Amino acid sequence: MSAPSSLPAPTAHPLPSYLQADHLGPWGIFLQQVDRVEPYLGNLARWVETLKRPKRILVVDVPIHMDDGRVAHFEGYRVQHNTSRGPGKGGVRFHQDVTLSEVMALSAWMSIKNAAVNVPYGGAKGGIRVDPKTLSRGELERMTRRYTSEIGIIIGPNKDIPAPDVNTNEQIMAWMMDTYSMNQGATATGVVTGKPVDLGGSLGRREATGRGVFTVGAEAARNIGLDISTARVAVQGFGNVGGVAGKLFAEAGARVVAVQDHGGAIYREAGLDVPSLLKHVVEKGTVAGFEHAEVMDAEKFWDVPCDIMIPAALEQQITKANAHRIQARMVIEGANGPTTPEADDILHERNVLVLPDVIANAGGVTVSYFEWVQDFSSFFWDEDEINKRLVRVMQQAFAGVWQVAEQHKVSLRTATFIVACQRILHTRELRGLYP
Ligand code: GLU
Repeated sequence: MSAPSSLPAPTAHPLPSYLQADHLGPWGIFLQQVDRVEPYLGNLARWVETLKRPKRILVVDVPIHMDDGRVAHFEGYRVQHNTSRGPGKGGVRFHQDVTLSEVMALSAWMSIKNAAVNVPYGGAKGGIRVDPKTLSRGELERMTRRYTSEIGIIIGPNKDIPAPDVNTNEQIMAWMMDTYSMNQGATATGVVTGKPVDLGGSLGRREATGRGVFTVGAEAARNIGLDISTARVAVQGFGNVGGVAGKLFAEAGARVVAVQDHGGAIYREAGLDVPSLLKHVVEKGTVAGFEHAEVMDAEKFWDVPCDIMIPAALEQQITKANAHRIQARMVIEGANGPTTPEADDILHERNVLVLPDVIANAGGVTVSYFEWVQDFSSFFWDEDEINKRLVRVMQQAFAGVWQVAEQHKVSLRTATFIVACQRILHTRELRGLYP
């Protein structure tokens, strides 16, 4: 994979101002992660500047009629971080804290994640700065459709394929697919993944991220001699990712002893009844108020005696303020970016194994890839086939990352970045610079 010697290294120019995010923000964290991996890239390091600059950033105004007749404006983004390995791919989140720095970082983590599991995609991400709970269903639909239409100039089945993320779901994907298709004059199911199964979606997609979390968790547990059938598990966020992962761990015999979410935290030493808790969350939107558990101070969640901790909510949850309190032997990042770099170092020093987001939660996009392939061939696989393929992809990717971590004596995060950046920058070099 060495570079032709006639190729001089690209000249380093200062980054544009909007890319010089402050080092505490998500984009700053991504830049630090790239710096850490640079020494391991050999000749490919000559292309590393590519990773520090998203390929394309689109900021859009999303005006809609509110139910009361007012016109409201929302701020929307779609960032394509890298498309060397294939079309952009990554979710869309609706959240009141969405910023450009965050979407840039999330798009970059998608590049890493997609390369880590070796699906033929680059990385992209989108978002709208809005608290969707404040919108009526009609307002939500109008906002989704207008946003899709605005970013319609850069997305498409062969260009960039959005998917669900925080606060977006199958219905939102159905509206996005319909809006794009209406504008094109033809139904294009492959423009988004995570669609309803009756609309070109894939069986197993909804559970895929949580299933991937469980799969790499089980592999890592075996590697460090942790018996999951007797393990205690603590989960932050009990939705699509944390809820499914919790269920699969419980089915494997583990005790889910604590769960925290935006509504509060609950605890049960003997293990929570996960199926009933999942039902409660569907009805109430939070774990708070679940009868068969003790109420716990939300902040105390980080002190819970457990073997496995799964942050499956938002970014920057494990920080230098709580990392030293975590008692788990293993942290599995179901969320994107839940651990700050300082916290990462603290956990590393304390010998807590961190399975990083860029591999641990890649199950979602892996089945998104299966969905996209099924849409193109208009031939749909059964759920067993999908789950088997998912487990195979995750196990293979994780084994490769584990080996690189042992070889270089680095964390699994750095190892995943090494594997992924080498793949991305190798294609960068093969394609060459245009013109
Ligand atoms: N939003 C998910 C993620 O962060 C899935 C992305 C996708 O399926 O494209 O990995």
